[in-house]
Amino acid sequence: MLEAGRARPVPTPETKHFWDGTRDGELRLQRCDDCTRPYFPPRPFCPVCGSRHVSVFKASGRAKLHSYVIHHRKVPGFTPPYAIAVVELAEGPRMMTNIVECPQTPEALVLDMDLEVTFTPMDEAITLPFFRPAKG
Ligand SMILES: [Zn+2]
Repeated sequence: MLEAGRARPVPTPETKHFWDGTRDGELRLQRCDDCTRPYFPPRPFCPVCGSRHVSVFKASGRAKLHSYVIHHRKVPGFTPPYAIAVVELAEGPRMMTNIVECPQTPEALVLDMDLEVTFTPMDEAITLPFFRPAKG
């Protein structure tokens, strides 16, 4: 479903675990070993307490739709209308993403709706995580 022209993320040492995870079909977050807070996006220290004792763990992939905007303008890689969404992961952190397998309309995109992660390969190295309405 990916359209040509979409900007390609470039993994860095700090985000490598995340992109390795999506390629393997896992959504990976980090958690502070000192204050136990899960967080995203990837960084080598806890955004809450500043501790550098952090671990990577596999998230459930479940989320709720927190907010979104529907764009009606053509940009490379996207055919309008398309929604840019912020989802709240079951573990707590929020993530900017697209909602797929769902009409891009206010009637279909209901705040707090249950979502699940799905993975779409962009190329050999990069797989993008999107969210779709949870089944069942
Ligand atoms: Zn912490």
